[in-house]
Amino acid sequence: MIDNPKLLQLKEELLQQTKTSDSPQTILRSDKLRQAMADIRNIDPAKRGEYGKQLNQLKQELSSVAEARQAELEQVDLKPIDVTAPMDINCQVPQLLPSSEGSRHPITQEIEKISQIFERMGYVVEESREIDDQYHMFESLNFPKDHPARDDYDTFMTEDVDKNGDRLIAPAHTSTMQNRILRKYIDNLERGEPIASIVPDRVFRNEDLDARHEHTFYQVEGVYVAKGVNVGNLISTLQEFLQEYYGQKLDVRVNPFYFPFTEPSFEFALSCPFCAGDNSNCKVCSGEGWVELLGCGLINPNVLKSAGIDPSQYSGFAFGCGIDRLIMMKYQIEDIRYLESAKLDFLKQF
Ligand SMILES: [Zn+2]
Repeated sequence: MIDNPKLLQLKEELLQQTKTSDSPQTILRSDKLRQAMADIRNIDPAKRGEYGKQLNQLKQELSSVAEARQAELEQVDLKPIDVTAPMDINCQVPQLLPSSEGSRHPITQEIEKISQIFERMGYVVEESREIDDQYHMFESLNFPKDHPARDDYDTFMTEDVDKNGDRLIAPAHTSTMQNRILRKYIDNLERGEPIASIVPDRVFRNEDLDARHEHTFYQVEGVYVAKGVNVGNLISTLQEFLQEYYGQKLDVRVNPFYFPFTEPSFEFALSCPFCAGDNSNCKVCSGEGWVELLGCGLINPNVLKSAGIDPSQYSGFAFGCGIDRLIMMKYQIEDIRYLESAKLDFLKQF
């Protein structure tokens, strides 16, 4: 039984606070309670035992009241729902964070920067789509039916089919937009202007997930067609873009590669923006000094033809670059899965 007048007064005060508090557990750590514990030193040694006992009792009482208050706070206020009402009038407005607490996703921010760089170079920005047909995924890009290179683009299929009876697919690359872009801007060529467009958007692959592979990621496709376009134009465009994006001078390296929709095709590597090969422990390039970044090449004449462009008059280049990869390199993010996660401590850094 608590009869110490100081403790009695404290009990009354803290109980009152606990019963109305929104975070009752914090009262158990209140300064006043701490002070009452420290006071034990000043109590007559003969009475210390009794004081300590009463103080413990006070803490127990507070603790059970705090628990009851916490349970009360967590109880959901369920109201009967009138199913005949035209809308649910009991629906409560969800508590939203104020917009000042939020930020745009890093992928959105970087896509905007990438788009701005290309817009300054005269490119228009187009969107891709999240379900497409196999004509745009393969045939229009010079992958005939049963072409073995189709296997490199293992993605997800729907049960729905297009007019040819082929299943619709989640695009495995933004190149699905090439044919549409060429057709949309074909009149530019008549006017003596180039077709110049980028498509930064979401793509899908049937991948085993790890720090470098995601089933959902982002690519930026680039398409440029005019008279007399050559490999030099391709390389200088990409170098210009990457230098602007990373804010420094960078060397580039091209190696021959194979894609059905470009001829010749290249794999494009960039000198490591972090170590230039001087650090054998570099996480980005493993000390090699080069980072394989994207695939590119001169557009295959068959791809131009399938869009109604005469390849004897016009030529062009195309490239496809992983946006997640660009961002990971820029900010030295070690795991691609962070980008699709909802980890606020990661997202708040941007
Ligand atoms: Zn490096």
